[in-house]
Amino acid sequence: MTSVLLNRQIAAAFGTCEEAPLKGALDALQSAGLSDLAANLVNLLVEIEDTYDRHAEIERRAEKARRLVACLDLTGDVLCEWDLVSRKIKQSSAWQRRFGTIGGAPVRSIDDWLEWILPDDRAMVGERLNTVLQRRAPLMEIEHRMLDPDDGWRWWLLRCRVSVRDGEGKPKRLLVLHRDITDQKRSEAALVRAKEEAETANRARGAFLANMSHEIRTPMNAVVGMTELALDTPLDDVQRGYLETVKSSADALLTIIDDVLDLSKIEAGRLELESVVFSLRNVLGDTMRGLAVSAHRKGLEVLLDVAPDLPDRLYGDPTRLRQVLSNLVGNAIKFTERGEVAVEVSKLRHSGMSLYLQFVVRDTGVGIAPELHEQIFDAFMQGDPSTARRFGGTGLGLAITNRLVKLMDGQIWLESEPGGGSTFYFTARVAAEPNAAAPSFELPTGLQGRAVLVIDDCPHALALIARMLQQLGLEVDTTDDASRVPALVAERARVGRPYDLILADGGMPAPGGLALLQTFDNVLLLLANHAQRQELARSAAVPSRPHLVKPVFEDNLFDALRAAFDVADLRRLELARFEVDEAAVLGLDAAEPLNVLLVEDTLVNQALAVQLLTKAGHRVTVANNGVEALEWFEQQPFDLILMDLQMPLIDGMEATAKIRAREASRSWAVGEGPRQCYIAAMTAHAMQGDRERCLAAGMDDYISKPIRRQALNALLKRAIDHRRAPKGELSVLLQNWTG
Ligand code: ADP
Repeated sequence: MTSVLLNRQIAAAFGTCEEAPLKGALDALQSAGLSDLAANLVNLLVEIEDTYDRHAEIERRAEKARRLVACLDLTGDVLCEWDLVSRKIKQSSAWQRRFGTIGGAPVRSIDDWLEWILPDDRAMVGERLNTVLQRRAPLMEIEHRMLDPDDGWRWWLLRCRVSVRDGEGKPKRLLVLHRDITDQKRSEAALVRAKEEAETANRARGAFLANMSHEIRTPMNAVVGMTELALDTPLDDVQRGYLETVKSSADALLTIIDDVLDLSKIEAGRLELESVVFSLRNVLGDTMRGLAVSAHRKGLEVLLDVAPDLPDRLYGDPTRLRQVLSNLVGNAIKFTERGEVAVEVSKLRHSGMSLYLQFVVRDTGVGIAPELHEQIFDAFMQGDPSTARRFGGTGLGLAITNRLVKLMDGQIWLESEPGGGSTFYFTARVAAEPNAAAPSFELPTGLQGRAVLVIDDCPHALALIARMLQQLGLEVDTTDDASRVPALVAERARVGRPYDLILADGGMPAPGGLALLQTFDNVLLLLANHAQRQELARSAAVPSRPHLVKPVFEDNLFDALRAAFDVADLRRLELARFEVDEAAVLGLDAAEPLNVLLVEDTLVNQALAVQLLTKAGHRVTVANNGVEALEWFEQQPFDLILMDLQMPLIDGMEATAKIRAREASRSWAVGEGPRQCYIAAMTAHAMQGDRERCLAAGMDDYISKPIRRQALNALLKRAIDHRRAPKGELSVLLQNWTG
């Protein structure tokens, strides 16, 4: 080994020192026979060179070590090595600085150091150290506390691994790293404390709100309940008005309380959605029917368009879905003065059990300025203040809606311009069986292919209902002009394909709407106006006729059509063909027109009676109640007064008594003055004894509602006879009639 090295070194020395005097010296020594000396000299030189190399290597390593220490210093970590045999700690300077002396006492051994660990943590640290020493884990990390006499307890992270083991694998040395994590621990603790405090405050707020709302709700329910009871008692109009205001204000207050409670529940993350099975169409129907009342009161058209491919049986939270819809549709109605509010529902996608729905709520109302499109979804934010004042509200609705939509994994956005109406879109995820089919509304084969005529002056409504009818398998004609109906019907009858049914918007003025009932027997009315509906249901002009309430839904359209076809079929048996000739239908002798005062408080009955009378050529004045009747009576003579019995202010009986009293006090009572006016009661109370009571109250005649053409014709004839007859014959006429 030495000789190889020697040869290499000699070769190198001689090879590189050609001109050096050393070569000459060696040559001289060799030639002088002093080869040993020359060899020793070479060895010496090689040794010097080796030493030099080693020194340079040591220097390099020392530099590396210095750099490592500097890096370690930068991290703030403290490194040391434990000698597990001598239990001494080989300390770095950083370690010296941190742990060299604690509380004035020097720390040299592992045991010295362990002394300062918080007693509670000591056992845990020992246990974890054993996991590394016993090779159960290559590396160990633990957080523990140590006493720092200057700064109380500090948190340390201890990380270690065995650096040297003996031949038997027993650990001899342990490399240990300490990191001060006190600041991190303190901020963690502060965060936990803050979170706990926030949770406590939230719980307190939730409990407070729940209590408050309960406390407010209890008396409010009493207010609402008692007001409802009071409204059921006899009241004059003024009192009724006061109480109705109390009721609607109480209802509004309850809504606000619910909103505030909902919002706080959502904010506190305490609102969870249900997942129950529900019928989509029922939820839509119930929601829209409820809201349509206020829309119809404003004269707005309400439309619902559900994509035919949507399954009906869904899983989700119907209450919250209804809440979102009610809010958007409620706003649409609130902020729309004329036109329509339309809701469209369609399927975005169906993957697995998840069905994504898209809802569109479109109105033709005041619209929203672009800069408010985001803001209005914030709590207590309303659009422009003047609009907010005009329409009222709390600014909570959309905030709640927005959060509910998010809970349903959906999004909400809008398109709107001031004056150009608004369209709100929202999506929602519900669950549906992957193969859930849309409900199929199929008319029995016998009814398919039947011809129907639809009359509506709202183009959107007309198109929508025509589409629904076509989907049901009917042959559909449409018109928005009711005056064309007789011609259309006649034409159809002429070619031998008469309409089986006429679907007509109940809100159109004569000759459309309710007036069609008088002309055609096969009319299915689409009623919008709440008053119309109630009236039709109560005193139904033609009680056996089915009608439909707008907005029209597939399911109730289906039911109504079946009922209507049944009725129409029955009628067809009675009548050879539809009566189109109005004069023939009315069959009245209008040669002697009467001046009639119609005293009636409900619009539908007014409209019907006016239609019948004017078409027969009589002149009609309408009084809405007994008080107006008396005013008209003072102003001009009438041949006939058709007097409703139940009316606000002054009812029919009282009004008749007053009219009779006034007639009696007039001078015509003496001699041949004007005869008594012919008064006929019109009443829905076709009860035993009604007729007698009316006659006793001073009336001459009696007709029961719903008014039938024949009965009215007979009544008008008697009124004409009364006008013709001299005073003395009145009793005979009456006898003829009552007999
Ligand atoms: P509010 O109870 O005041 O109606 P919302 O949160 O429901 O509260 O609505 C916030 C605001 O958004 C309303 O005050 C109104 O200015 C505007 N807005 C909402 N819907 C409509 C709409 N369909 N047409 C016009 N403005 C609307």
